[in-house]
Amino acid sequence: MVRRLFGPAKREVAVIGQGTWEMESHDRGAVIAALRRGIDLGMTHIDTAEMYGSGIVEKWIGEAITGRREKVFLVSKVLPQNASRKGTVDACEKSLARLKTEYLDCYLLHWPGRHPLKQTIEAFEELQRAGKIRSWGVSNFDVSDLEAAWKIAGAGRLACNQVLYHLKERAIEHAVIPWCERHDVAVVAYSPFGSGHFPELRTQGGRVLQEIADARGATARQVALRFLVHRPSLFAIPKAVNEAHQVENAGAAKVVLTAADLARIDQAFPRGPRRRKLPVL
Ligand code: NAP
Repeated sequence: MVRRLFGPAKREVAVIGQGTWEMESHDRGAVIAALRRGIDLGMTHIDTAEMYGSGIVEKWIGEAITGRREKVFLVSKVLPQNASRKGTVDACEKSLARLKTEYLDCYLLHWPGRHPLKQTIEAFEELQRAGKIRSWGVSNFDVSDLEAAWKIAGAGRLACNQVLYHLKERAIEHAVIPWCERHDVAVVAYSPFGSGHFPELRTQGGRVLQEIADARGATARQVALRFLVHRPSLFAIPKAVNEAHQVENAGAAKVVLTAADLARIDQAFPRGPRRRKLPVL
């Protein structure tokens, strides 16, 4: 697995990790086995949230990482409605209890909400001082939200921004990624396969991916994932319960794409104009 520095968190993190949204709709044993297999394959960056299955997913992750906690870069998220100063601390403690761990590697605000951001950031700082989180970040933040966070927290505090990014949704390339790169903030691509809308082989884009995959001894999904993380600020967190999918996704880190491959993908999946609002799922 390829690892790289995760913004200012001073940690080397796997470029391909594991998403866990909606895992509660699968069999518990299958989910735990898939997460463990993913860790063994090097996908040690595990993304979750208090929202996922209303805490069920965090509990299952707690079981999956028992005995392997030190290998994992564990990320969870507080819901915006809980993100007051006290609410954030309480939510984190509940997540830690469900995850059966003493600390999170990174704790995120799931999306901007009604509580003043200053309160949430103060809670994150308090949690970090107490050793309950090792870093903190945000999710679904556009440039104006990022600027606001930066103004409150100062340099070197914000570890990451987790945002929607896949081949058919490249809007963050206009301003969000450049802002994060200028400020040394990691960018985590969520729904990297379009959450069930991966380009099909019968489409022109799907054929381009397959041709590149054939030339590189890879699969179309591996080529797509590799494209998404080709910039050094980027990480991706595909969700997979199926074991063959886990193996395929982990293998993406090894795929080597040439400048010509990147240019072909860029052309086949144009990033389109800058949006007025940050796309979210
Ligand atoms: P995704 O990762 O784009 O796609 C997941 C789907 O793709 C699942 O149906 C999975 O099937 C399938 N899949 C995975 N690998 C595959 C492969 N190699 N071949 C064929 N199918 C494959 O969707 P996502 O769950 O929306 O996004 C990933 C993660 O991002 C989430 O789980 C969550 O952790 C995070 N996320 C964050 C936010 C946010 O607001 N911060 C929003 C959405 C998502 P199987 O499960 O059957 O293997």
